[in-house]
Amino acid sequence: MKTLVLSKLDVPAFVRELQKRGKVVGPRRKESQFVFDEIRDPEDLALEYPTTILPPVRHLFPHQERLLHFQRKDVAASDEIVEGEPLILLGVHTCDVQGINILDEVFSDSPYDANYLARRAQTKVIALECQGPCSQYNLCLDKGTHRLEGGYDLLLIDLGDRYFIFTRTAAGESMVAETAFLRPATPVDREALGKAREMQSASLKPRLSGPVNRLPSALKEAYDDLLWEAIGRRCLSCETCTMVCPTCYCFDVDDEVAFDLNHGVRCRLWDSCQSHRFAEVAGGENFREKASHRQRHRLFKKEVFQFEKYGRSACVGCGRCSAQCVASIRLTDMYNQVLGG
Ligand code: SF4
Ligand code: SF4
Repeated sequence: MKTLVLSKLDVPAFVRELQKRGKVVGPRRKESQFVFDEIRDPEDLALEYPTTILPPVRHLFPHQERLLHFQRKDVAASDEIVEGEPLILLGVHTCDVQGINILDEVFSDSPYDANYLARRAQTKVIALECQGPCSQYNLCLDKGTHRLEGGYDLLLIDLGDRYFIFTRTAAGESMVAETAFLRPATPVDREALGKAREMQSASLKPRLSGPVNRLPSALKEAYDDLLWEAIGRRCLSCETCTMVCPTCYCFDVDDEVAFDLNHGVRCRLWDSCQSHRFAEVAGGENFREKASHRQRHRLFKKEVFQFEKYGRSACVGCGRCSAQCVASIRLTDMYNQVLGG
């Protein structure tokens, strides 16, 4: 592991170096919001940004993609479509890096997802530690996602006029190997890093009324709670909370058949457990007919089912679902209610 320093004046030069290695996608302003988008002009990069509407992992798992060209009369002639390109995700907040780690685990599980993994194999991640709460809804301190154990190639920490950089992987080392404007970190930089992290710790406040590891059992105890009916009466089933979530990955598959009815393209498109038809089966039965059941399922998927399968939560505490909910349904309120806060 190397420790380096990048002056903020040299960020555009750093981006130009990265562009030689692949498509650089980072935060940029879009009207009053920020989005993760391709950075062609380094001046467009906006590293000091609050949470983006959509998480960066959506560049690895796009809203719609083609999976297969098929021939109905010659099934063996069908071609799989697995696409990818060298990609650098730059300035990814630590909670969103953890979101990528979670999708890496889910999509590597059987049956593995060739499309996601092909993109992921060509992707480098440059993480960025937030200096304080990036949204009034984030739960990163409770979830422990304000710092990272891994899942990135480089990590940037803002020291005011410069960034402290940790390299983590061989790919990260290679990204900084020939950059003359980076210098090794000095004791003064390390002291500044310590102060920045102290300030971060002081500014992040817990938002949950109980320990986060109580959530799986607390949710199970609250399975029949009236809370779900109350939430269900407010929820519009608009699906927004799942569309913006960095760890939601449900999708539907559809065949687009050409006019000759002989060939076509198989596509996948994001789907949502909040959609009324999501759990509908042949015969018209619906296992989660009510919005209250669907909202309960969403929280159980995050905190119970994935905990039982992988031993971790599938909520990284980014706060997007709460920030974007048109009915002002806040995840923190639901968690606190089941925790008894
Ligand atoms: S459930 Fe909400 S807070 Fe948790 S990761 Fe998804 S969008 Fe972020
Ligand atoms: S964003 Fe809010 S209203 Fe829309 S489905 Fe989610 S909880 Fe319901």
